[in-house]
Amino acid sequence: MIDTITRDRCDRCGAAGRYVSMLPGGGLLVFCGHHERVHREGLRAGGALSRPLAAVTDGEELAGVPTSRP
Ligand SMILES: [Zn+2]
Repeated sequence: MIDTITRDRCDRCGAAGRYVSMLPGGGLLVFCGHHERVHREGLRAGGALSRPLAAVTDGEELAGVPTSRP
């Protein structure tokens, strides 16, 4: 069973999460639709990847994301 994402609430406001951003360092941030739009530019500039939460909770999109740190 894949249990990569245990959160489904926006990290900023606690609303229902719609997007997950995968940070270059391996961290994950969950955003609602509003906050994904607010932070999209900055996240992209920092090299983060955003995916619809519904897509990644299937366990497919996050398969290649490194979650361990050296
Ligand atoms: Zn939010």
